[in-house]
Amino acid sequence: MPQSSQTLKKRRGRGPTGEPLDKRILRLTDRSGECWLWLGRKNPKGYGQMTIAKHQRSAHRVSYETFVGPIPEGLEIDHLCRVRHCVNPGHLEAVTRSVNLRRQMAATGMVGGKLIGRPSTLPAVFRAAARLLTANGHYQGDYCPDPFDRRTQTPHAERPLSIVAAIRCVASPGGDNPHRITELSEAAVKVLAGRLEVDGEPAWNEEPHHLEGHVANWGDVEGRRVESVVAVLEAAADACEVAA
Ligand SMILES: [Zn+2]
Repeated sequence: MPQSSQTLKKRRGRGPTGEPLDKRILRLTDRSGECWLWLGRKNPKGYGQMTIAKHQRSAHRVSYETFVGPIPEGLEIDHLCRVRHCVNPGHLEAVTRSVNLRRQMAATGMVGGKLIGRPSTLPAVFRAAARLLTANGHYQGDYCPDPFDRRTQTPHAERPLSIVAAIRCVASPGGDNPHRITELSEAAVKVLAGRLEVDGEPAWNEEPHHLEGHVANWGDVEGRRVESVVAVLEAAADACEVAA
């Protein structure tokens, strides 16, 4: 880096409208929970983005620089909360690449978009899907983002996914294929469909398409947050373990 972060910070201290960065970050976040959830644009991996002096920057890095200080050279900013679009400076830590990767692996069970140890039971599938969605975010409104967009190089397992896509992804060989249907993934969708109500109604038949649609409709309810999706997956895992 030719210029010190301090210089950059000073130069980039204000956005194009002259609004100080701290105010801009606060304005663009939902701080009703522990995390400061980024309400602005996100990149395909689910990280917040902001434009400063015509440059695209990661919102969490800008937040760190604004509220904590310059990022030491060569270090990455790790999300202690594993929520990619969180910019709460208290949830951010400057760490080396290897520490960041090690933590990511411990949190998601994945390395470089590959799942280490494919889940082989229903509770394991639910918990792996919960970890994936905690790390990547929950995707609403479609089966999975850009499934046919060949320009997208980001592995599926590193993108925000719908609930059904996350379940199929973790249950697929290699842990990165949300389009692969397995016996285990469909058993998990069926269990989940039986536990969810949409407009006060449980799933009303056992057709695979209906079960999948029922779970998808539940996930697409306006304002559905990743926290409640994860809670439902964890509860399903607990219930299966108790029943076993
Ligand atoms: Zn957070």
